[in-house]
Amino acid sequence: MTEKNNSRKARRPATELVHGGTTRSQHGETSEAMFLTQGFVYSSAEAAEARFNGEEPGFVYSRYANPTVAMFEDRIRILEGAEAARATASGMAAVNLALMASVKAGDHVVAAKALFGSCRYIVETLLPRFGVESTLVDGTDLDQWKAAVKPNTAALFLESPTNPTLEIIDIAAVADIAHSVGARLIVDNVFATPMFQSPLSLGADVVIYSATKHIDGQGRCLGGVVLSDEAWIVDEVMPFVKHTGPHMSPFSAWVLLKGLETLPLRVERQTSSAGKIADFLAGQSAVSRLIYPGRDDHPQAEIAKRQMTGGSTMLAFELAGGKEAAFRFANALEIIQLSNNLGDAKSLITHPATTTHQSLGEEARAELDISDGLLRFSVGLEDPLDLLEDIEQAMQAVS
Ligand SMILES: *Cc1c(COP(=O)(O)O)cnc(C)c1O
Repeated sequence: MTEKNNSRKARRPATELVHGGTTRSQHGETSEAMFLTQGFVYSSAEAAEARFNGEEPGFVYSRYANPTVAMFEDRIRILEGAEAARATASGMAAVNLALMASVKAGDHVVAAKALFGSCRYIVETLLPRFGVESTLVDGTDLDQWKAAVKPNTAALFLESPTNPTLEIIDIAAVADIAHSVGARLIVDNVFATPMFQSPLSLGADVVIYSATKHIDGQGRCLGGVVLSDEAWIVDEVMPFVKHTGPHMSPFSAWVLLKGLETLPLRVERQTSSAGKIADFLAGQSAVSRLIYPGRDDHPQAEIAKRQMTGGSTMLAFELAGGKEAAFRFANALEIIQLSNNLGDAKSLITHPATTTHQSLGEEARAELDISDGLLRFSVGLEDPLDLLEDIEQAMQAVS
Protein backbone atom coordinates (compact mmCIF):
# COMPACT_ATOMS: atom_id res chain seq x y z
CA MET A 1 0.00 0.00 0.00
CA THR A 2 1.36 3.40 -0.98
CA GLU A 3 0.29 7.05 -1.13
CA LYS A 4 -1.08 7.33 2.35
CA ASN A 5 -1.17 11.11 2.45
CA ASN A 6 -1.94 11.91 6.05
CA SER A 7 0.55 14.66 6.68
CA ARG A 8 -0.05 16.93 3.70
CA LYS A 9 -1.84 20.25 3.86
CA ALA A 10 -5.64 20.17 4.17
CA ARG A 11 -7.58 20.82 0.98
CA ARG A 12 -11.15 22.00 0.55
CA PRO A 13 -13.91 19.51 1.50
CA ALA A 14 -14.98 18.58 -2.06
CA THR A 15 -11.37 17.70 -2.92
CA GLU A 16 -10.83 15.72 0.29
CA LEU A 17 -14.02 13.76 -0.40
CA VAL A 18 -12.56 12.57 -3.71
CA HIS A 19 -8.94 11.97 -2.65
CA GLY A 20 -8.76 11.95 1.17
CA GLY A 21 -7.60 8.70 2.76
CA THR A 22 -6.82 6.98 -0.55
CA THR A 23 -4.26 4.19 -0.42
CA ARG A 24 -3.23 2.24 -3.52
CA SER A 25 -2.03 -1.33 -3.95
CA GLN A 26 0.97 -2.27 -6.13
CA HIS A 27 -1.39 -2.18 -9.15
CA GLY A 28 -1.97 1.57 -8.89
CA GLU A 29 -5.74 1.31 -9.38
CA THR A 30 -7.65 4.59 -9.98
CA SER A 31 -10.74 3.65 -7.98
CA GLU A 32 -10.28 2.47 -4.41
CA ALA A 33 -9.91 -1.30 -4.10
CA MET A 34 -12.35 -3.48 -2.21
CA PHE A 35 -10.38 -5.77 0.12
CA LEU A 36 -12.77 -8.63 0.77
CA THR A 37 -10.44 -10.45 3.12
CA GLN A 38 -10.80 -11.63 6.68
CA GLY A 39 -7.12 -11.97 7.50
CA PHE A 40 -3.62 -10.95 6.37
CA VAL A 41 -0.45 -13.01 5.89
CA TYR A 42 2.98 -12.13 7.28
CA SER A 43 6.37 -12.52 5.61
CA SER A 44 7.87 -14.19 8.70
CA ALA A 45 7.08 -15.19 12.26
CA GLU A 46 9.07 -12.12 13.38
CA ALA A 47 6.91 -9.89 11.19
CA ALA A 48 3.76 -11.39 12.73
CA GLU A 49 5.15 -10.75 16.21
CA ALA A 50 5.98 -7.13 15.32
CA ARG A 51 2.48 -6.61 13.85
CA PHE A 52 0.86 -7.97 17.00
CA ASN A 53 2.92 -5.97 19.49
CA GLY A 54 2.38 -2.79 17.47
CA GLU A 55 6.05 -2.29 16.53
CA GLU A 56 5.13 -2.51 12.86
CA PRO A 57 1.99 -0.91 11.42
CA GLY A 58 -0.35 -3.06 9.37
CA PHE A 59 -3.51 -5.11 9.39
CA VAL A 60 -4.13 -8.17 11.55
CA TYR A 61 -7.79 -9.15 11.19
CA SER A 62 -10.78 -7.44 9.60
CA ARG A 63 -12.75 -7.35 12.86
CA TYR A 64 -10.07 -4.87 14.07
CA ALA A 65 -9.34 -2.98 10.84
CA ASN A 66 -9.41 -3.50 7.07
CA PRO A 67 -7.76 -1.46 4.25
CA THR A 68 -11.04 -0.50 2.52
CA VAL A 69 -12.74 0.35 5.80
CA ALA A 70 -9.64 2.36 6.82
CA MET A 71 -9.93 4.45 3.64
CA PHE A 72 -13.57 5.23 4.47
CA GLU A 73 -12.67 6.10 8.08
CA ASP A 74 -9.82 8.35 7.01
CA ARG A 75 -11.83 10.19 4.35
CA ILE A 76 -14.71 11.05 6.68
CA ARG A 77 -12.27 11.84 9.50
CA ILE A 78 -10.56 14.46 7.30
CA LEU A 79 -13.93 15.98 6.29
CA GLU A 80 -15.10 16.18 9.90
CA GLY A 81 -11.78 17.55 11.19
CA ALA A 82 -11.62 14.77 13.80
CA GLU A 83 -8.48 13.11 15.13
CA ALA A 84 -9.83 9.57 14.71
CA ALA A 85 -12.80 7.57 13.42
CA ARG A 86 -14.16 4.02 13.67
CA ALA A 87 -16.70 2.71 11.17
CA THR A 88 -19.54 0.40 12.20
CA ALA A 89 -22.00 -1.94 10.49
CA SER A 90 -24.92 0.47 10.94
CA GLY A 91 -25.81 3.85 12.39
CA MET A 92 -27.28 2.16 15.46
CA ALA A 93 -24.03 0.25 16.01
CA ALA A 94 -22.29 3.65 16.01
CA VAL A 95 -24.75 5.11 18.55
CA ASN A 96 -24.43 2.04 20.79
CA LEU A 97 -20.63 2.10 20.49
CA ALA A 98 -20.39 5.81 21.36
CA LEU A 99 -22.60 5.35 24.43
CA MET A 100 -21.07 2.05 25.62
CA ALA A 101 -17.58 3.49 25.31
CA SER A 102 -18.66 6.45 27.49
CA VAL A 103 -20.44 4.82 30.45
CA LYS A 104 -20.11 2.27 33.22
CA ALA A 105 -22.56 1.08 35.90
CA GLY A 106 -23.42 3.95 38.26
CA ASP A 107 -23.14 6.60 35.55
CA HIS A 108 -25.93 8.83 34.29
CA VAL A 109 -26.85 9.94 30.75
CA VAL A 110 -28.96 12.92 29.67
CA ALA A 111 -30.55 12.90 26.22
CA ALA A 112 -32.98 15.02 24.23
CA LYS A 113 -36.46 13.48 24.01
CA ALA A 114 -36.63 14.01 20.27
CA LEU A 115 -34.33 11.12 19.34
CA PHE A 116 -34.38 8.56 16.55
CA GLY A 117 -36.57 5.71 17.92
CA SER A 118 -33.82 3.12 18.41
CA CYS A 119 -31.54 5.70 20.09
CA ARG A 120 -34.34 6.33 22.57
CA TYR A 121 -34.56 2.59 23.24
CA ILE A 122 -30.84 2.42 24.09
CA VAL A 123 -31.05 5.40 26.45
CA GLU A 124 -34.44 4.66 28.03
CA THR A 125 -34.50 0.86 28.17
CA LEU A 126 -31.12 -0.74 27.51
CA LEU A 127 -28.70 1.42 29.54
CA PRO A 128 -30.80 1.25 32.76
CA ARG A 129 -30.56 -2.58 32.60
CA PHE A 130 -26.81 -2.19 33.09
CA GLY A 131 -27.05 0.32 35.93
CA VAL A 132 -26.81 3.48 33.86
CA GLU A 133 -29.75 5.79 34.59
CA SER A 134 -30.99 8.28 32.07
CA THR A 135 -32.95 11.52 32.00
CA LEU A 136 -34.79 12.76 28.92
CA VAL A 137 -35.19 16.51 28.41
CA ASP A 138 -36.74 18.91 25.92
CA GLY A 139 -33.54 19.54 23.93
CA THR A 140 -34.49 23.10 22.98
CA ASP A 141 -34.82 24.14 26.65
CA LEU A 142 -31.31 24.77 28.04
CA ASP A 143 -32.65 25.04 31.61
CA GLN A 144 -33.79 21.42 31.42
CA TRP A 145 -30.29 20.27 30.36
CA LYS A 146 -28.78 22.30 33.24
CA ALA A 147 -31.22 20.86 35.77
CA ALA A 148 -30.68 17.28 34.57
CA VAL A 149 -26.88 17.01 34.77
CA LYS A 150 -25.34 15.55 37.93
CA PRO A 151 -21.83 14.81 39.16
CA ASN A 152 -22.10 11.25 37.78
CA THR A 153 -23.38 12.34 34.36
CA ALA A 154 -20.99 10.77 31.83
CA ALA A 155 -22.64 11.65 28.54
CA LEU A 156 -25.15 14.02 26.96
CA PHE A 157 -26.71 12.90 23.70
CA LEU A 158 -28.67 14.81 21.07
CA GLU A 159 -29.46 15.09 17.40
CA SER A 160 -30.03 18.40 15.59
CA PRO A 161 -32.08 18.95 13.50
CA THR A 162 -34.26 16.36 15.20
CA ASN A 163 -36.36 13.62 13.65
CA PRO A 164 -39.09 14.22 12.51
CA THR A 165 -39.96 17.77 13.60
CA LEU A 166 -36.58 19.34 12.66
CA GLU A 167 -36.08 21.20 15.93
CA ILE A 168 -32.68 22.85 16.29
CA ILE A 169 -30.71 22.36 19.52
CA ASP A 170 -27.96 24.81 20.50
CA ILE A 171 -24.93 22.49 20.33
CA ALA A 172 -22.38 24.97 21.73
CA ALA A 173 -24.58 25.74 24.76
CA VAL A 174 -25.25 22.05 25.51
CA ALA A 175 -21.50 21.32 25.14
CA ASP A 176 -20.78 23.91 27.86
CA ILE A 177 -23.34 22.26 30.16
CA ALA A 178 -21.78 18.82 29.50
CA HIS A 179 -18.29 20.08 30.23
CA SER A 180 -19.40 21.78 33.46
CA VAL A 181 -19.82 18.28 34.96
CA GLY A 182 -17.02 16.61 33.01
CA ALA A 183 -19.41 14.76 30.68
CA ARG A 184 -18.94 14.04 26.99
CA LEU A 185 -21.39 15.51 24.43
CA ILE A 186 -22.31 13.04 21.67
CA VAL A 187 -24.07 14.51 18.61
CA ASP A 188 -25.95 12.43 16.03
CA ASN A 189 -25.33 14.63 12.97
CA VAL A 190 -27.34 12.65 10.41
CA PHE A 191 -30.02 15.25 9.62
CA ALA A 192 -27.53 18.14 9.26
CA THR A 193 -25.02 16.05 7.24
CA PRO A 194 -21.27 16.75 7.51
CA MET A 195 -21.66 19.36 4.76
CA PHE A 196 -23.76 21.76 6.87
CA GLN A 197 -22.76 21.26 10.52
CA SER A 198 -19.49 20.46 12.31
CA PRO A 199 -20.39 19.55 15.90
CA LEU A 200 -16.74 19.12 16.95
CA SER A 201 -15.99 22.74 16.07
CA LEU A 202 -19.07 23.77 18.10
CA GLY A 203 -17.69 22.04 21.20
CA ALA A 204 -19.11 18.50 20.93
CA ASP A 205 -16.76 15.66 21.90
CA VAL A 206 -18.13 12.88 19.68
CA VAL A 207 -19.97 12.92 16.35
CA ILE A 208 -21.80 9.92 15.00
CA TYR A 209 -23.41 9.23 11.62
CA SER A 210 -25.69 6.71 10.14
CA ALA A 211 -23.76 6.48 6.84
CA THR A 212 -26.82 4.62 5.56
CA LYS A 213 -28.43 8.00 4.90
CA HIS A 214 -26.80 10.82 2.86
CA ILE A 215 -23.31 9.26 2.83
CA ASP A 216 -24.52 6.29 0.80
CA GLY A 217 -27.28 8.45 -0.63
CA GLN A 218 -28.49 5.79 -3.02
CA GLY A 219 -30.26 3.40 -0.67
CA ARG A 220 -27.82 0.47 -0.99
CA CYS A 221 -26.18 -0.49 2.30
CA LEU A 222 -26.08 0.25 6.02
CA GLY A 223 -23.16 1.81 7.84
CA GLY A 224 -22.16 4.11 10.67
CA VAL A 225 -19.17 5.96 12.04
CA VAL A 226 -17.97 7.38 15.38
CA LEU A 227 -15.58 10.35 15.25
CA SER A 228 -13.71 11.88 18.18
CA ASP A 229 -10.29 12.56 19.70
CA GLU A 230 -7.54 9.99 19.22
CA ALA A 231 -7.05 9.13 22.90
CA TRP A 232 -10.68 8.17 23.49
CA ILE A 233 -10.98 6.26 20.20
CA VAL A 234 -7.78 4.30 20.93
CA ASP A 235 -8.43 3.67 24.64
CA GLU A 236 -12.20 3.09 24.70
CA VAL A 237 -13.73 2.74 21.23
CA MET A 238 -11.11 0.54 19.61
CA PRO A 239 -11.12 -2.20 22.29
CA PHE A 240 -14.94 -2.27 22.19
CA VAL A 241 -14.90 -2.71 18.39
CA LYS A 242 -12.11 -5.28 18.51
CA HIS A 243 -13.71 -7.46 21.17
CA THR A 244 -17.44 -7.15 20.41
CA GLY A 245 -17.43 -7.05 16.58
CA PRO A 246 -19.59 -4.17 15.24
CA HIS A 247 -17.00 -3.18 12.58
CA MET A 248 -18.16 -2.21 9.08
CA SER A 249 -17.83 -4.76 6.27
CA PRO A 250 -15.30 -3.97 3.48
CA PHE A 251 -18.09 -4.15 0.90
CA SER A 252 -20.19 -1.52 2.70
CA ALA A 253 -17.08 0.61 3.27
CA TRP A 254 -16.36 0.56 -0.47
CA VAL A 255 -19.91 1.67 -1.36
CA LEU A 256 -19.85 4.39 1.30
CA LEU A 257 -16.36 5.56 0.31
CA LYS A 258 -17.57 6.10 -3.25
CA GLY A 259 -20.69 7.78 -1.81
CA LEU A 260 -18.49 10.35 -0.08
CA GLU A 261 -17.10 11.46 -3.48
CA THR A 262 -20.50 12.80 -4.56
CA LEU A 263 -21.85 13.84 -1.12
CA PRO A 264 -21.50 17.63 -1.61
CA LEU A 265 -23.16 17.57 -5.05
CA ARG A 266 -26.07 15.51 -3.82
CA VAL A 267 -26.64 17.38 -0.56
CA GLU A 268 -26.46 20.78 -2.28
CA ARG A 269 -28.97 19.73 -4.94
CA GLN A 270 -31.34 18.12 -2.42
CA THR A 271 -31.16 21.19 -0.18
CA SER A 272 -31.80 23.61 -3.01
CA SER A 273 -34.86 21.56 -4.05
CA ALA A 274 -36.02 21.31 -0.41
CA GLY A 275 -35.89 25.12 -0.11
CA LYS A 276 -38.09 25.55 -3.20
CA ILE A 277 -40.57 22.92 -1.98
CA ALA A 278 -40.69 24.50 1.50
CA ASP A 279 -41.52 27.88 -0.04
CA PHE A 280 -44.28 26.30 -2.13
CA LEU A 281 -45.78 24.44 0.86
CA ALA A 282 -45.70 27.59 3.00
CA GLY A 283 -48.24 29.16 0.61
CA GLN A 284 -50.70 26.24 0.64
CA SER A 285 -53.93 26.70 2.60
CA ALA A 286 -54.14 22.96 3.42
CA VAL A 287 -50.74 23.17 5.19
CA SER A 288 -51.21 24.23 8.82
CA ARG A 289 -47.52 24.10 9.77
CA LEU A 290 -44.29 23.99 7.79
CA ILE A 291 -40.92 23.28 9.40
CA TYR A 292 -37.77 23.91 7.39
CA PRO A 293 -34.45 24.89 9.02
CA GLY A 294 -33.48 27.09 6.04
CA ARG A 295 -36.42 29.48 6.47
CA ASP A 296 -36.69 32.54 8.71
CA ASP A 297 -40.01 31.28 10.12
CA HIS A 298 -38.35 28.21 11.69
CA PRO A 299 -38.82 28.42 15.49
CA GLN A 300 -35.04 28.26 16.09
CA ALA A 301 -33.98 30.08 12.89
CA GLU A 302 -31.41 32.14 14.77
CA ILE A 303 -29.58 29.10 16.18
CA ALA A 304 -29.80 27.38 12.79
CA LYS A 305 -28.05 30.35 11.17
CA ARG A 306 -25.34 30.28 13.84
CA GLN A 307 -24.50 26.59 13.75
CA MET A 308 -25.48 25.39 10.27
CA THR A 309 -24.12 26.52 6.92
CA GLY A 310 -27.11 25.26 4.92
CA GLY A 311 -30.80 24.45 5.28
CA SER A 312 -31.61 20.76 5.16
CA THR A 313 -32.47 18.01 2.70
CA MET A 314 -35.42 17.25 4.99
CA LEU A 315 -38.64 19.11 5.62
CA ALA A 316 -41.73 18.44 7.69
CA PHE A 317 -45.25 19.75 7.27
CA GLU A 318 -48.62 19.28 8.83
CA LEU A 319 -51.88 19.04 6.92
CA ALA A 320 -54.84 20.70 8.63
CA GLY A 321 -57.04 17.70 7.78
CA GLY A 322 -55.12 15.37 10.12
CA LYS A 323 -54.42 11.69 9.41
CA GLU A 324 -57.09 11.41 6.72
CA ALA A 325 -55.62 14.32 4.73
CA ALA A 326 -52.06 13.07 5.25
CA PHE A 327 -52.95 9.61 3.96
CA ARG A 328 -54.87 11.02 0.99
CA PHE A 329 -51.94 13.27 0.10
CA ALA A 330 -49.35 10.47 0.47
CA ASN A 331 -51.44 8.03 -1.57
CA ALA A 332 -51.90 10.57 -4.39
CA LEU A 333 -48.14 11.10 -4.90
CA GLU A 334 -46.76 9.59 -8.10
CA ILE A 335 -43.01 10.31 -8.10
CA ILE A 336 -42.39 10.71 -4.37
CA GLN A 337 -42.30 7.25 -2.75
CA LEU A 338 -43.64 6.17 0.63
CA SER A 339 -40.68 5.06 2.75
CA ASN A 340 -39.30 5.65 6.24
CA ASN A 341 -35.74 5.91 4.88
CA LEU A 342 -34.07 9.26 4.20
CA GLY A 343 -31.14 10.92 2.44
CA ASP A 344 -31.77 8.87 -0.70
CA ALA A 345 -31.56 9.89 -4.38
CA LYS A 346 -35.27 9.05 -4.48
CA SER A 347 -37.66 11.46 -2.76
CA LEU A 348 -39.28 9.68 0.18
CA ILE A 349 -42.19 10.66 2.39
CA THR A 350 -43.36 9.14 5.64
CA HIS A 351 -46.21 9.60 8.11
CA PRO A 352 -44.32 9.44 11.45
CA ALA A 353 -47.39 8.97 13.69
CA THR A 354 -48.26 5.63 12.06
CA THR A 355 -44.75 4.42 11.12
CA THR A 356 -41.43 5.53 12.68
CA HIS A 357 -43.08 6.96 15.80
CA GLN A 358 -46.08 4.63 16.09
CA SER A 359 -44.65 2.63 19.01
CA LEU A 360 -44.04 5.78 21.10
CA GLY A 361 -47.73 6.06 21.91
CA GLU A 362 -50.07 9.03 21.68
CA GLU A 363 -48.83 10.86 24.77
CA ALA A 364 -45.14 10.80 23.84
CA ARG A 365 -46.03 11.84 20.30
CA ALA A 366 -48.02 14.82 21.59
CA GLU A 367 -45.02 15.81 23.73
CA LEU A 368 -42.85 15.81 20.61
CA ASP A 369 -45.44 17.70 18.52
CA ILE A 370 -45.86 14.75 16.17
CA SER A 371 -49.47 15.30 15.14
CA ASP A 372 -51.64 13.01 13.00
CA GLY A 373 -51.37 15.42 10.07
CA LEU A 374 -47.55 15.55 10.09
CA LEU A 375 -45.53 14.26 7.13
CA ARG A 376 -41.73 14.03 6.95
CA PHE A 377 -40.23 14.52 3.53
CA SER A 378 -36.71 13.55 2.41
CA VAL A 379 -36.02 15.41 -0.81
CA GLY A 380 -34.24 13.43 -3.54
CA LEU A 381 -32.33 14.16 -6.73
CA GLU A 382 -35.27 14.31 -9.15
CA ASP A 383 -35.85 17.52 -11.13
CA PRO A 384 -37.37 19.93 -8.57
CA LEU A 385 -40.04 20.98 -11.08
CA ASP A 386 -41.29 17.38 -11.30
CA LEU A 387 -41.35 17.17 -7.49
CA LEU A 388 -43.30 20.44 -7.25
CA GLU A 389 -45.80 19.23 -9.84
CA ASP A 390 -46.21 15.94 -7.98
CA ILE A 391 -46.86 17.79 -4.71
CA GLU A 392 -49.25 20.20 -6.41
CA GLN A 393 -51.37 17.42 -7.92
CA ALA A 394 -51.42 15.51 -4.59
CA MET A 395 -52.55 18.73 -2.80
CA GLN A 396 -55.60 18.74 -5.05
CA ALA A 397 -56.56 15.36 -3.61
CA VAL A 398 -56.60 16.98 -0.15
CA SER A 399 -58.48 20.20 -0.83
C1 LIG B 1 -31.21 6.21 10.51
C2 LIG B 1 -30.75 6.91 11.71
C3 LIG B 1 -30.05 6.23 12.72
C4 LIG B 1 -29.78 4.75 12.65
O1 LIG B 1 -28.99 4.40 11.55
P1 LIG B 1 -29.04 2.94 10.86
O2 LIG B 1 -27.96 3.03 9.84
O3 LIG B 1 -30.40 2.76 10.29
O4 LIG B 1 -28.73 1.95 11.93
C5 LIG B 1 -29.65 6.96 13.81
N1 LIG B 1 -29.91 8.27 13.93
C6 LIG B 1 -30.58 8.96 12.97
C7 LIG B 1 -30.85 10.42 13.16
C8 LIG B 1 -31.03 8.30 11.83
O5 LIG B 1 -31.70 8.99 10.89
